[in-house]
Amino acid sequence: MKASEFLEKFRRPNFTCDICGREVFGGERICRRCNEALPRIGEKCCPICGRVQHAEGICLECKQTRPLFEAARSLFRHEGEAARLVLRYKNGEKYLSRTILELLLPRFKEFPEADAIAFVPMTARAERARGYNQSRLLAEGLAQKSGLPLLSAAEKVRETDEQKSLGRRGRQKNLEGCFKITEKKAVEGKTILLIDDTLTTGATANELTKQFLAAKAKKVFVLTVTSVGDPTSADPARKRPGSD
Ligand SMILES: [Zn+2]
Ligand SMILES: [Zn+2]
Repeated sequence: MKASEFLEKFRRPNFTCDICGREVFGGERICRRCNEALPRIGEKCCPICGRVQHAEGICLECKQTRPLFEAARSLFRHEGEAARLVLRYKNGEKYLSRTILELLLPRFKEFPEADAIAFVPMTARAERARGYNQSRLLAEGLAQKSGLPLLSAAEKVRETDEQKSLGRRGRQKNLEGCFKITEKKAVEGKTILLIDDTLTTGATANELTKQFLAAKAKKVFVLTVTSVGDPTSADPARKRPGSD
């Protein structure tokens, strides 16, 4: 047996915590301490966009403009280690998709109606630059684990400006017409669960939902890893990430 084969045989799938780097025994990708410290979103969230807010019930933004998707839910607030995990995942640490997928899986049962899984497409150029589509990898994993079909029915046809420098209206305008449905038949009549990394204003999810509904999808739900809290609250820790 060659040394490399020997090492391969005895290598454990995960040896250190993906957050703190401490040794983990039992095959988990994140140690218990780090897992418990992640900023999970509990019950106190807007029933529509799923963002944490201080008040009860539907948040102000959803009251002002009701999103086109039925409901969105996120695992974590976009802060601390959760935000860092997502950013690392988007900035080259592709292997974290497995870690994040394991965290996402338990939330999947909250969408019993879903009969197809979709992701937010990137332009071919942006995908080449990153080397992968972070939203697609998660959607693929969920489709595999759940047995639901993965819809690869949308395309991003043009690059959009960095959303973070734009106001609310600007974001909507920036996104208009950037997605195109390439396989309308695959979308028709489907209740779609759209997967993405972070929900900021929800403008991206909303624009893609608009296209899915125009292609006669029945309903669209959204599941993201993190979401930025209630934009109307004066939380100084609140930061808008790059995408949304
Ligand atoms: Zn840890
Ligand atoms: Zn809301």
